[in-house]
Amino acid sequence: MLDNALPTSFAELSRIGSESRLDQGAYLWREGDPGDHVVLLLEGFLEVTHNTPEGQTVVLRTQETGAIVGEIAALDGRPRSATVRASTPCRIVRIPAPAFREVLHRRADILEDLYWMQVERVRSLTRQVTQTHDRAITDPLTHLYNYGFFRERLGLELERARKTGDNLALIMFDIDHFKHFNDVHGHQDGNTVLCTVADILRTSGRRGDIVARYGGEEFVVLLYGATRDEAARFADSARVSIASHPFAGGETQPMGRVTVSGGVAAFPSDASGDEALIKAADARLYRAKELGRDRIVSVTVNN
Ligand code: GH3
Ligand code: MG
Ligand code: MG
Repeated sequence: MLDNALPTSFAELSRIGSESRLDQGAYLWREGDPGDHVVLLLEGFLEVTHNTPEGQTVVLRTQETGAIVGEIAALDGRPRSATVRASTPCRIVRIPAPAFREVLHRRADILEDLYWMQVERVRSLTRQVTQTHDRAITDPLTHLYNYGFFRERLGLELERARKTGDNLALIMFDIDHFKHFNDVHGHQDGNTVLCTVADILRTSGRRGDIVARYGGEEFVVLLYGATRDEAARFADSARVSIASHPFAGGETQPMGRVTVSGGVAAFPSDASGDEALIKAADARLYRAKELGRDRIVSVTVNN
């Protein structure tokens, strides 16, 4: 409702304030300055910035015509929490903090418009935080969850399983002879294989399974509630889907196609802690490699 427009209720604010101009690049105030007035932007663009401890300037948001800036500091009496600068020539109205507070007591319509302005700010911040969070937990190549997110979830899910007595299983997959594939076809085609394997694993899983890129050409699947046998069945069907997928260039692989090996470990039968569970799955993956690859190992065999 306030996009690019001056709400009619704000006409009262321009009446009680004093109008002036800001040159492009001029500072309205800096972080830490006293919050003794509010600014209504009549024309132009303002940039709200923050200086990082490393000395970089980050633009938090841009304010357009109709925006009110500095109202929080003017209301709570604290210093400015951010620096504001004109990114174009601006026409502004400065309203002293006491006059601003007084007008809010009198005019519910101004308060309401201000409230909606804050709602929009919170919504936009929420969108930004969500995007930043998604980026932080996602592997940029395969769009699977990344290692960090997997470790965090493993810790949480183990905690849950300990409390409820539920099962939990982990599968580590590793693409067979992937170095060979890269050597023959190049890194780009290797990346295409990684993405396809990731898609197959993602779509093979049940809703709620955590499929992550563990690193390089290794993937991990966390199956909450699954026993070792259930996880082994899932792992083997994913292995078969990959082995039967017509990957371009797969015929030059040592085994004539792109394949994966996998190791399965379960809580509580194989291990009770996160490190130990990963280690157990990894040891079985290693055993699958030793036994000839393109297979899943879910038990420990000594010999
Ligand atoms: P093994 O069957 O024993 O797993 O053999 P391997 O060749 O797959 O294993 P190795 O650990 O020797 O090599 C892994 C290869 O994976 C080497 C590396 O270049 C490749 N790799 C790791 N990350 C990426 C990536 O992001 N993109 C591509 N294209 N290749 C990657
Ligand atoms: Mg590997
Ligand atoms: Mg490998």
